[in-house]
Amino acid sequence: VARHADDTASTAPNPAHREPVLKVALDTPLRRVFDYLPPAGDARHEWSRGIRIRVPFGRRQQVGVLVDVARQSELPQDKLRRALGVIDERPVYDAALLELLHWASDYYQHPLGNVLLGALPTLARAGAADQATITQWAVTADGAAAAVAGEPRRAPRQREMLQRLASGAMDEDELRDAFADWRGAARELMRRGFIASSERSGADPAGPPPAEARAGPPLSAEQQSAVQAVCAALGEYRSFLLRGITGSGKTEVYLHAAAATLRRGRQVLVLVPEIALTPQLVERFAQRFGVAPVVFHSALTDTQRLIAWRQCLSGRARIVLGTRSAVFAPLPAAGLIVIDEEHDPSFKQQQGGFRYSARDLALVRAHRLGIPVLLGSATPSLESLHNVAAGRHVALSLPRRAGGAEPPILRIIDLRGQTLRNRLAGATIEAITRHLAADGQVLVYLNRRGYAPTLVCSACGWIAPCTQCDARMTIHRADDRLRCHHCGAERPLLHQCPQCGYAVKPVGQGTERIEEALIEMFPQAPLVRLDRDMVRNQEDLTNAYARLHSGEARLLVGTQMVTKGHDFPGVTLVVVLNADQGLFSIDYRAAERLAQSLVQVAGRAGRGQRPGEVLIQTEHPEHPMLQTLLRGGYDGFARVALEERRSANWPPFVRLAALRASAPTLPPAIDFLRAARNLGAAIRRADGLDAVSLNGPAPASMARRADRYHAQLLVESASRPDLQRFLAQWVPGVEALPEARRVRFVLDVDPLEVF
Ligand SMILES: [Zn+2]
Ligand SMILES: [Zn+2]
Repeated sequence: VARHADDTASTAPNPAHREPVLKVALDTPLRRVFDYLPPAGDARHEWSRGIRIRVPFGRRQQVGVLVDVARQSELPQDKLRRALGVIDERPVYDAALLELLHWASDYYQHPLGNVLLGALPTLARAGAADQATITQWAVTADGAAAAVAGEPRRAPRQREMLQRLASGAMDEDELRDAFADWRGAARELMRRGFIASSERSGADPAGPPPAEARAGPPLSAEQQSAVQAVCAALGEYRSFLLRGITGSGKTEVYLHAAAATLRRGRQVLVLVPEIALTPQLVERFAQRFGVAPVVFHSALTDTQRLIAWRQCLSGRARIVLGTRSAVFAPLPAAGLIVIDEEHDPSFKQQQGGFRYSARDLALVRAHRLGIPVLLGSATPSLESLHNVAAGRHVALSLPRRAGGAEPPILRIIDLRGQTLRNRLAGATIEAITRHLAADGQVLVYLNRRGYAPTLVCSACGWIAPCTQCDARMTIHRADDRLRCHHCGAERPLLHQCPQCGYAVKPVGQGTERIEEALIEMFPQAPLVRLDRDMVRNQEDLTNAYARLHSGEARLLVGTQMVTKGHDFPGVTLVVVLNADQGLFSIDYRAAERLAQSLVQVAGRAGRGQRPGEVLIQTEHPEHPMLQTLLRGGYDGFARVALEERRSANWPPFVRLAALRASAPTLPPAIDFLRAARNLGAAIRRADGLDAVSLNGPAPASMARRADRYHAQLLVESASRPDLQRFLAQWVPGVEALPEARRVRFVLDVDPLEVF
């Protein structure tokens, strides 16, 4: 139908008279932004991207982020709703952070609104101001008269408060200090109309800026050249991989690079994999700079998190130290990013919908900001080693232990044909006895918590199953419970078989059981156990360390927890009880994880002046992975492992994305993934994306977890841009599939685990 030119002219009002259309991202799973008109009466000409705006959404209100301003909307003007109010006078995301979050939304295929709002602390997401407000209380005219008249006569506390306020307004803090339960009295006085509150903006409490760094220990030649390399790159993007064996002094390099960054007036962001590692680094930085860094981690209260965020935003935080989500901290003057223990899987978010890698995002952020980024590890990820080989990271190396301590000696204990006592070989028991007698401390590593991993009936073969998973329940003797480590289900420990009534017994070994055995075998040696059941908070951890550092405890039994960064200078012997768990896993990363754990735990031995000894108990002494590790160390292992990844087409030689689905039964999950695969095949053909391949669907190796059935479809490509192009088209289509309504699903780009 031909249109008259006049039609368009008459329906479109003159743009000059038109109000701007605000494009607002909201915390919804919808992949779009929403159009609003400015709040009533707000006629500003300049709108800054990155400010928060309160808008009506359905019947509720939401806080959104202004991501763009347009001259017109696809909706007719009379269908547009008005925003309710503007929260920020200045953006709470600077342009660079906003771009990073846009990038992350695209790369991880996660809705922009979720990503943007998710980067804010909970209270800021709900609209808390970007600066602290101080509430001030003062008397009203009535209140002043009442104070003169000595009222309220029958409420002495209110009277006293009114008198004080009549002689001058007070902040909430001052009232709190002056009166116990000041709120009750203030409420009454306000009800009587005697006092009123008002708010003004003020600064959150913040310490002084960092002082000039104090001198540290003298640097080794290698530390010196690492520091020089990083400092020479300040002000431009360059990524460094600092390989430092355990105890070689990586932290000193971080501290010196941080000092140089602060001298240039810039901020430093330090990422660590877990909360447990923050106190010791916080202390090192605090000692060096005279001020504690601003910290970000999951154990903060909402208010603490808000305060930390405000300090970052205002630029008053000069050193910011935190776990994964700290990668989104606002840093108006960022100058350096440090990622400690870069190989640690905790940097990848593995739950929820937005499965980002903080390490990878930190690299992107540094690149966009034009600042250096320093990755540190004793056992770098194969990805990072590959990036060094490809010339993307500059390698820095600290090959020697500080103070010239000798590296530990590794030995394999062949368990085959041996009579074991409490799962310990004769040679192991002999070594423990010898080291304890020589006043050393002994660390026993077993990556399995609980008492025993299985409860079995020897009469009928019944094995205590989790009723919600394809898994067995773990025995926890401490509180006589059976627990599933996959879904958290638990029930009382059984003593008789529910099937035949025969007595059941624990099979296999967990940290509780080895603790019991060691106490029985070495009653004179006080023991500390470090695992998630024993250490529930920072205080437990601090107490355990205190017992180890004082030398009071002689034996240490622990899980993965002991492999992470802590220094146990008195440990001279490390025993790895069951290395075999990781040797035959179907996950392509299992060997890398095992090698990292072994090298990390071995690094705990002999960090003082005494050389250490490491014993690895195994039933598979000839396993190639153990052999390469023993002969060639972590480097040798990594070379072989990378070659294997290359020939088997695994990352980092290809890029992966996993579409994971779950449902109360298996068929809907498989049907959905099959429909997703068919859709993908059509996109591949239409767009010539032949390099992208779709593998599956297949049920997960543990298909039933927490009473749902899990399956996955793997998308693979040698080319990252191709994979990205494919996903951008595929994911919205997948979401719209009718089969999608019957399942829960999530896309995991660069998944750590492929099951
Ligand atoms: Zn039985
Ligand atoms: Zn379970």
